[in-house]
Amino acid sequence: MTVETVRSPSEMRVRAAAWRAEGRRIVLVPTMGYLHAGHISLLDEGRRRGDVLVLSIFVNPAQFGPGEDLSRYPRDLDRDLAVAQRARVDVVFVPEPAAMYPPGYQTFVEVRELQKGLCGERRAGHFVGVATVVLKLCHLVQPHVTLFGTKDYQQLQVIRRMVSDLDLELEIIGMPIVRETDGLALSSRNAYLSGDERRRALLLSQALSAVHARFVAGERHTFVLVEQARTVLESGSGVRVDYVELRDAETLVPAEGTLVSPAVLAVAAYIGATRLIDNLVLSP
Ligand code: AMP
Repeated sequence: MTVETVRSPSEMRVRAAAWRAEGRRIVLVPTMGYLHAGHISLLDEGRRRGDVLVLSIFVNPAQFGPGEDLSRYPRDLDRDLAVAQRARVDVVFVPEPAAMYPPGYQTFVEVRELQKGLCGERRAGHFVGVATVVLKLCHLVQPHVTLFGTKDYQQLQVIRRMVSDLDLELEIIGMPIVRETDGLALSSRNAYLSGDERRRALLLSQALSAVHARFVAGERHTFVLVEQARTVLESGSGVRVDYVELRDAETLVPAEGTLVSPAVLAVAAYIGATRLIDNLVLSP
């Protein structure tokens, strides 16, 4: 027995309508595939939250800018299907780009303020692509619940806002970041790293740990906390900092002065040619 796959958006919609008519609670975990333990944590929680568990695998062209890694993004559908089966996924939805964005496609969703700054500033159009595909997937799969990782912190806030602003009847669950035992946040893009780069990539989580230690010791000056992270990141060769920022955990407005409300320390850095992100929420 292999897990069932659905490739056609219209077939997906028909299946979802039938589940809804039967009163079944539908859970969707959207991914770009090349599954790892972070994705599996979403699937495991999803399994507990509903009756029908749908995993979507779609490397969404709309969220990649020119010159980004769309064509070389890691893919292994056979392995992903085996992982999905072990996670007791009911249906894997694997649409083709041409089925999601047929000729003449021209409609996009923009979450204006939350997409500014951080990854949205460095990756022009990225969150328009993310919001658009998540909305499309939700129309096709009709989930009651969707799960996302806080690893992609800005993405989660963008999606929460879109769901609220567009009156979608949908519960959104943000799941903790799953890490390797040495601290590296799991990411499909870790597959790009050479052995040496893999060691250097540890600086991201080490920077967050150093900030966490300062915070626990009582440090509340945003400038000091950000500089602590930057110092650790820049202590290694071959790491190019893209951004280190402390922002309000909900609005993502830059946090300045003394921290008085929850904030997220977000980092992005290039290890060789690979861009990695990580974050830590600090709650005073
Ligand atoms: P992706 O396939 O990278 O687009 O990720 C699909 C979903 O898995 C997103 O909601 C991510 O935030 C989540 N995710 C990716 N990496 C991790 C991780 N290390 N821990 C928890 N969730 C993750």
